[in-house]
Amino acid sequence: MASSQLVGKTYCVKTFGCQMNLHDSERVSGLLDACGCNEVATFEEADIAVFMTCCVRENADQRLYGQASALVSMQAPPSGKRVVAIGGCIAQRDGARLKEQIPTCDVVFGTSALDKLPALLEEAFDSSSRRIFVDTEEDPASFSTDLPTHRAQPFHAWVPIMYGCNNFCTYCIVPYVRGRERGRVFETIVSECERLVNDGVREICLLGQNVNSYGRDLYGKPRFAELIRAVGETGVDRLRFTSSNPKDLNDDVIAAMAETPAVTPHLHLAVQSGSSRILKAMNRSYTREQYLDLVGRLYDAIPGLALTTDIIVGFPGETEEDFLETLSLVEEARFAGAFTFIYSKRPGTPAARIVDPTPAETIENRFDRLARLVEKQSWEANQIDLGTSVEVLVESTSKRNSGVLVGHSAKNQTVHFPVPEGRMPDDLIGKFCTVDVDLARTWYLSGTMAGEPR
Ligand code: SF4
Repeated sequence: MASSQLVGKTYCVKTFGCQMNLHDSERVSGLLDACGCNEVATFEEADIAVFMTCCVRENADQRLYGQASALVSMQAPPSGKRVVAIGGCIAQRDGARLKEQIPTCDVVFGTSALDKLPALLEEAFDSSSRRIFVDTEEDPASFSTDLPTHRAQPFHAWVPIMYGCNNFCTYCIVPYVRGRERGRVFETIVSECERLVNDGVREICLLGQNVNSYGRDLYGKPRFAELIRAVGETGVDRLRFTSSNPKDLNDDVIAAMAETPAVTPHLHLAVQSGSSRILKAMNRSYTREQYLDLVGRLYDAIPGLALTTDIIVGFPGETEEDFLETLSLVEEARFAGAFTFIYSKRPGTPAARIVDPTPAETIENRFDRLARLVEKQSWEANQIDLGTSVEVLVESTSKRNSGVLVGHSAKNQTVHFPVPEGRMPDDLIGKFCTVDVDLARTWYLSGTMAGEPR
């Protein structure tokens, strides 16, 4: 993999957006490491500045244009030339047109072209003019799956199981920029997980735009439930997965979750709205009643399950009655947390063509009412663990206080606790520690460590 042009070059990767992008960034870093490059913390020091972009999250375009354009006024790195590469969903969507918005851009690589990045960078370093080098070809047979990965945390790994999405929710750009669903071969995923566990990974998160429909395009049609059980048998301590579309989460998956000890009692299950009318307009393929029925089956099968969700407020045409249905669904589903968003148009999606006269203040008012309810429920959900012991996978020291360790419980709550006397933080990071919880706030738990780490 080493490339003479790139050996010794420094690089910095900046990531916007979802877990799939975080994982793609880890693979870009792994690829550049394998080419003999060295990671640095800032763009100032970097010969190669990589942006992994997202067109799902709000303002992502503006943030990218701002940050990438700012590189113009930045001093050149010690080697004399900085190459700016843009990957991810915006790169796939805009291709060479990015040069118009971002004059500093030298390389554009699409979501199927991660493995082409070293060759594109070499061409850019070789070129004496400011040409742009682009590869956004969609190759349904290839999704650069076997690339080296530079994991941000040695004890945690993202494992993609599929790419793309077939669902075409009317507000979402993903199927247009990441293409149709393509699953990775079952055995390849399981052996990658086995390797990771042997390398010391304690927590694996299986990734896909809709993991519940895994396997439909593959020979023998392996099911997601079978994959959960097989990965559970690798000996991994914790197994998570995201994203789950409720329409494809069936009783087989619920049984596999309940019967696989490594699967954590936490599920993120995006509902988006509590109104069946709006869910239909979103093309979500389930009703309010079907979602609540699914939630009931999940709570029955998995004791202590923490359920979190995503909700969009102000989808075009949403009325006060629709919104009240969202509030009542949030109460009925007893979410432990929710990411709430005000609807914003994604050019190129069907919903972007709908004209909605609802005033912005009305939508903001709804958003505030929902946020208050979600906060109240998160606080209540955390009170359940006050006075109990939770097992925490320790991830780092706190940014504000190096004497405090931070990690996540099995239910995905953020947990803080002071470094016990006589212990070094590095000896505990990446280990499971039991924490006796003596404080439960809306966004976190805190307490003291008890017993020995494992
Ligand atoms: S399931 Fe819907 S929201 Fe999720 S990626 Fe696919 S189209 Fe987008």
